[in-house]
Amino acid sequence: MREPLAVPVPSAQAAGERARGIAAMDWTELKAAVKACTICGLRAGCTQTVFGVGDESAKWMIVGEAPGAEEDRQGEPFVGRAGQLLNSMIGALGMKREQVYIANILKCRPPNNRDPKPEEAELCRPYLGRQIALIKPKLILAVGRIAAQNLLHTDVTIGRLRGTVHKLGGTPVVVTYHPAYLLRTPGEKRKAWDDLKLALGVARGLT
Ligand code: URA
Repeated sequence: MREPLAVPVPSAQAAGERARGIAAMDWTELKAAVKACTICGLRAGCTQTVFGVGDESAKWMIVGEAPGAEEDRQGEPFVGRAGQLLNSMIGALGMKREQVYIANILKCRPPNNRDPKPEEAELCRPYLGRQIALIKPKLILAVGRIAAQNLLHTDVTIGRLRGTVHKLGGTPVVVTYHPAYLLRTPGEKRKAWDDLKLALGVARGLT
């Protein structure tokens, strides 16, 4: 017998209605909805939701996986060690952190930083979708496998997703390694720099 899913999945009709409601929200409504969200159960085990941060009219949007311990404490994405490296990556692109918009696939920290479950990512997806629709970025940089696979709805490995410009709706998506991975594997930083150069070319309309 199959194990029951840990997260109750709403019917397709209920999920559709919820997604349509979120897709019509303005920033104030969206922030309030995320703050009040308990739909997947992760909220019961985290300190607070982590909505996203940055310029709400940014040209660049950076999407990560989920809040970690420090993000959960501070209520802001990428503020731990990985966040410091992400800030350097943004600096290498010639920008400041405040000029981009940073968000995650999940708005709540999974226990012990485990990977998001597919059903958690699916339930959180309308929030990120609305953030993207409101910001209308010129480019999305997906950092790490989980962000890339969830954004692009694919199981393809990060190694194969890198190096190509993908599309989400009409928005170009470039995939690179997660800064936490780069901290563990600094030898891969050169490849990440190649990814950033690809993204820069896209943002400048050269690719
Ligand atoms: N890793 C992520 O993917 N997101 C964060 O906000 C922090 C660490």
